[in-house]
Amino acid sequence: MLNSKLAIGIDIGGTKVLGGVVNQDGEILRTFRVDTPKTGGDALNQSIADVITELLTTHNTDSIGISAAGLVSSDRATMLGSPNIKDWDGVNIAAELLNLCGAKTVVENDANCAAWAERVYGAGKGLENVIMITVGTGIGGAAIVNGQPLRGANGTGAEFGHMRIVPDGEQCGCGIKGCYERYASGSALMRHAREAIAKDPVAARNLLSRGDGTIEGLLGGHITEAARDGDRIAIEALATTGDWLGAGIATLSMLFDPSIVVIGGGVIDAGEFLLEPARKAMMREMPFVGKHPVPEIVSAKLGNDAGLVGVADLARN
Ligand SMILES: [Zn+2]
Repeated sequence: MLNSKLAIGIDIGGTKVLGGVVNQDGEILRTFRVDTPKTGGDALNQSIADVITELLTTHNTDSIGISAAGLVSSDRATMLGSPNIKDWDGVNIAAELLNLCGAKTVVENDANCAAWAERVYGAGKGLENVIMITVGTGIGGAAIVNGQPLRGANGTGAEFGHMRIVPDGEQCGCGIKGCYERYASGSALMRHAREAIAKDPVAARNLLSRGDGTIEGLLGGHITEAARDGDRIAIEALATTGDWLGAGIATLSMLFDPSIVVIGGGVIDAGEFLLEPARKAMMREMPFVGKHPVPEIVSAKLGNDAGLVGVADLARN
């Protein structure tokens, strides 16, 4: 029997295709995963179809969503541009899956899915205007505006990571210079750490000793760990990253007027070491100081499952 309260979410990661059956409370009842085929394209479509077919053997639903990184068309069917997956650009994934396994699906940008999950079940629960910034290797962005995910004319709205915040700044992989993610992402954190280390090599010994002793051997996790132990260089690198993050949030607040800004992604493990400088920078950089309302800046509540849970709920709607 078809169960309209259940939905299937599929999260396409770099290493695995993870599917889950999700109920209306956001609980995952069952998961099934396969490796992400390195060849992408047709092989990946087949893997997704296999995951859907397997999950449908135990739970029958016609609400099925696919969460993936990239630019997704506004009709939630076609991958316009995928940064990490081969042979997927321009592919009508919904049509391919209908053909392969007979299932109707919707495709959503992964940042939109995570933001939606936070808005329905997590840090932004019940709020109508929510910004989410995912701070990982790059920066992912999503906006919930008046209770709906902002997709834009072509489905590619809210790509905050490539908002230019420094004219002629650091070169970004997208082709322009000075993007937000060159200053406030996990890779930017590593650059800020390298700069702080170069300024004070003696004080940096403690931080470097957490890896293999070299700058190259230093990982993001080492910086958070060192900051918790009071390491000045680590705290400074996180504060610089948080400062850029908050300056960008001031601009985003002028555009979207959110009541809350949810920060997710791997770097948010650093918690207040990142968030407190971000709040200060937002206040400092906010136009109409004292008059423009300021949003709360908080950590995401849902972890790695946010994309899967979010896309399941979006598929249901
Ligand atoms: Zn860029």
